[in-house]
Amino acid sequence: MPLVAKVRFSSPLPQLDKEFDYLVPAELQNQIAFGHLVEVPFGSGGKLKTGVVCGIQNDDKPRDKLLSVMAVITALPVFTEEQLNLCTAVAERQAGAVGELLSVSIPKRYQRAEAKFVNSESSFIRSETMRESTLLSCLQETSKVYFQPALFDGSSVAPDWALQIVNACLNEFASGKSSLVVLPDFAELAKFERALEHLKATSIGIRHTSSDTGSNRYLSHLTAIRRIGINYGLRGAAFAPARHLGLIAIWDDGDESHIEQTAPYWNSREVLLQRSELEQTKLVIASHSPSAEVIRLIEIGYLKHLEAMQALANIIVTDLSDRLDSQTFAVISTLLSTGKPVLMQIANAGWATALVCVGCKESRTCPTCSGSVWVDPSGKIRCRSCKSNVELSACACGKTSTRPNRLGASAIAKQMERSFPNATVVHSNGENRITSIKSGALLVVATPGAEPEVEGGYACVLLADAPGMVGSPRLRALEQSLSKWSNAISLANEDSTVIFVGLRDALAMQMKSLAFFEAVQEDYKDREDLGLPPITRLASVITSNSVDHQRLIEAVIESFASDKVRRLGVTQPNTLVLDFPYSFGVELANSLKDLTVKLTASSKSKKPGERVYRINMDDGKVI
Ligand SMILES: [Zn+2]
Ligand SMILES: [Zn+2]
Repeated sequence: MPLVAKVRFSSPLPQLDKEFDYLVPAELQNQIAFGHLVEVPFGSGGKLKTGVVCGIQNDDKPRDKLLSVMAVITALPVFTEEQLNLCTAVAERQAGAVGELLSVSIPKRYQRAEAKFVNSESSFIRSETMRESTLLSCLQETSKVYFQPALFDGSSVAPDWALQIVNACLNEFASGKSSLVVLPDFAELAKFERALEHLKATSIGIRHTSSDTGSNRYLSHLTAIRRIGINYGLRGAAFAPARHLGLIAIWDDGDESHIEQTAPYWNSREVLLQRSELEQTKLVIASHSPSAEVIRLIEIGYLKHLEAMQALANIIVTDLSDRLDSQTFAVISTLLSTGKPVLMQIANAGWATALVCVGCKESRTCPTCSGSVWVDPSGKIRCRSCKSNVELSACACGKTSTRPNRLGASAIAKQMERSFPNATVVHSNGENRITSIKSGALLVVATPGAEPEVEGGYACVLLADAPGMVGSPRLRALEQSLSKWSNAISLANEDSTVIFVGLRDALAMQMKSLAFFEAVQEDYKDREDLGLPPITRLASVITSNSVDHQRLIEAVIESFASDKVRRLGVTQPNTLVLDFPYSFGVELANSLKDLTVKLTASSKSKKPGERVYRINMDDGKVI
């Protein structure tokens, strides 16, 4: 009986987003299986194209003129049915194409790595166990957990969250199952690897990261398909294969690096929630401070909240806006003089977070787009909106001189060198990040997320820009600030002093007891009253030109009942923002995809080869 292979291509084009049938010639029939890469003729010229086999079936009456598979490229399958199911589900949720997700699911092929790959089980004897594992005991009772680990872990070999997660992974391994752990960045990945090492589990770790050489990455991929192990990596690892997957964990799901910046704009948490359902696995979402989405999942009874006991440090909340009042100065000064390290978190990088005119005191703006300007770490004036370098001409009042409205981290670091001449002042920011540092009389000035670890933990953590961070007019300002504060505080030791500068009212009270969960929960309740995400979802469609944007708006008004989908007003040009309930998500994604494909086909305004519409089903940045 003739054999037909279903082949998919890695491509964002909607017209290629389906399975194409090819006959399998007799001589290839025992080489081909699900997940092999194959070479097939495609298009009018019959040019050869590489695709992946997503199904094979006997077909006694195959379609006329079916073309044949020309060659099987890989000696081993490189894609699994579980991966295909995940890509299909994610594409559907995100109004994207399966073909867009194939490149993140299958790394580039290295023939040498394939030859090197030997299908032998690694020997592994578990020798280390944790004395106390709150997470593991919780997972034995319930399968979906939100875990808030112990906060002060700066002094241990690896952070509590990493040790607890590795321990849970080892338990899966012992019962013949793999696990998958997704981390936000390389600094957190390094902490996770320390936990693997400490619990003697390195030999069963399978790392999936783009920083590895291509051939090592491919080798890990092949290993993950065939062996039980602990798979881990950054957000792309959410799509990595994992044999007999039993446990999925994600650290710090609210971190922005979990959001993919290209279509179809998926984020690790949502992908892993889908994957956990598809593969029926346990799920752990862990962070020091929860995301609003996590609060929602707890509120609807999906996740169980597990909080490790917190040892409370000495916490000071000042209501002064002064970053360094005399009391704070004295605390820092005493610590530094006894050789102890201090961390100072400053919200923004650079020399000035904004510039004002010395004459009229008005804020100076970008001449191109009127966005606000700042002075970057290299001393250049730049626009926050369009990111361009800015040459400021004279102000409307005639003056040309400016002064910083608020100093950025580079300027603060310089100032600290003068204030504490006997200490070593270290500066770390997103672009020039220091991940760890030796202890001593150190004053570390760092932007949020760029704080280095210090041996033994910091003796003081100063959150110097707290009011500015929560005061930003963004929906997620509070949630994200709490996350950045809690992560900075986790680098302290249990005896340290934590100082929040300039907080008042309820938030000041909450931070006095480090009640991050309660603070986000309250914020969530406020959003609930207003019907804002994550109570509902927010999708955006950005159009490349205003004519097609208008056509889309008309089509959307015609297609959707206003009780299902609300259109929100936004200031960004050619951007449509829709607010909709979770229950309507898949239907809306499908309709938007169909609508935009049709409108693109009939567009008279698009440039050749241009993508007219970009759909983001969860746009966190529009409000
Ligand atoms: Zn002026
Ligand atoms: Zn600009």
